Amino acid sequence: MQRTASSPPKSIVLLGSTGSIGTQTLDVARWQGYRPVALTGGSNADALVAQAAEFRPELVVCDPAVVDRVKPHLPSGTRLASGPEGLVEAAVVEADAVVAAIPGFHGLEPTAAALRAGRHVALANKEAMVVAGPLMWELAGASGARITPVDSEHSALFQALVGEPRESVRSLVLTASGGPFREGPDDLDSVTPEQALRHPNWSMGRKVTIDSATLFNKGLEVLEAHFLFDLPLSSVEVVIHPQSLVHGLVRFHDGSIKAQIGPHDMRLPIQYALAAPHRPPNPLAPLPLEGRWDFAAPDLERFPSLQSAYRAGEAGGVAPAYLNAADEIAVARFLAGRMRFTDIPRLLEHVLERAPDEALGWDALSAADREARAVAGSWRPTG
Ligand code: NAD
Ligand code: MG
Repeated sequence: MQRTASSPPKSIVLLGSTGSIGTQTLDVARWQGYRPVALTGGSNADALVAQAAEFRPELVVCDPAVVDRVKPHLPSGTRLASGPEGLVEAAVVEADAVVAAIPGFHGLEPTAAALRAGRHVALANKEAMVVAGPLMWELAGASGARITPVDSEHSALFQALVGEPRESVRSLVLTASGGPFREGPDDLDSVTPEQALRHPNWSMGRKVTIDSATLFNKGLEVLEAHFLFDLPLSSVEVVIHPQSLVHGLVRFHDGSIKAQIGPHDMRLPIQYALAAPHRPPNPLAPLPLEGRWDFAAPDLERFPSLQSAYRAGEAGGVAPAYLNAADEIAVARFLAGRMRFTDIPRLLEHVLERAPDEALGWDALSAADREARAVAGSWRPTG
């Protein structure tokens, strides 16, 4: 990870502006006076139109299905594009930083385009690092682009690593809230999407919220940390910390541990991803330090998805892409009421077992994503 000092951005491109990370990034932009020069927002036409009216960006990108609802309401001087080409066009608009906050495999192409163009990428789209970590670093290396993490745990590690020589690091520790089912029920067979969407600490998009309930989000984050910080998987640990105030810890060889602590408010890691190493003031209230802070080992029997992620990482090549695609299908099927919560880890293992032993490359990656979706799509729950 490149950690060169630089000045905070004046202009930003925001990929996924109408989502949870997107709208919180706009708060940071309001606080710090960053100018959003391109906004992309999928199919939420009303939100996109309101954002365009406030920020008057050069470019707005929406889903082709809502062009007619967006176009007539854009300010003069704002261009409209749509679809995947539009996302890539937005990713390379001249700007000091690009916030990559489109979830899943869909977010990969525009994120890669921003890196290819040498942009500083503030990365929320963890899936891009999980499925294509080495390829992303290759792009960044060739163009001189910088990648900084938005994910709160990785932001914590990034912050704890400042000034520390790499050879001093023994391991990275990611904290996990444990999600809505940490304390029960014991039998997760019949939990509903509504229950799984009720995250105790964070308000996030639907996909990442379900991933938090299965603990697969932490599995993705283990892989994200492995690729982001270039450390072996055996040096990435997970600990349950229900209060979500300690976001990540770095263990050093001398026995010392450095942690980053902060309110569970994503606007803090978003701001750090954009402004690092600077820490301009913002309106966040100081975090009270009174109260209990608990730490416990994860329950791998109730939440086996975390181990699937380690297995995919050990297998390497396209295996993480297989697992990621399987999870996108699994979560969509669970949310649609077509699968039980406990079928998610079963589907993940089923697909992972079928991942070919294939080296990572751009073509291999697209093929792997397609194949894994087909394998996942034809899997049927038993019982
Ligand atoms: P979200 O579902 O709230 O928002 C997604 C945004 O991307 C929306 O603007 C949506 O319109 C757009 N989008 C979705 N699919 C698209 C597609 N196919 N084409 C074009 N645009 C599309 O998601 P989120 O919670 O903001 O998460 C964004 C990313 O950040 C994810 O990778 C997630 O894992 C990561 N992340 C989120 C949080 C959080 O607190 N929300 C925390 C850590 C990491
Ligand atoms: Mg996280």
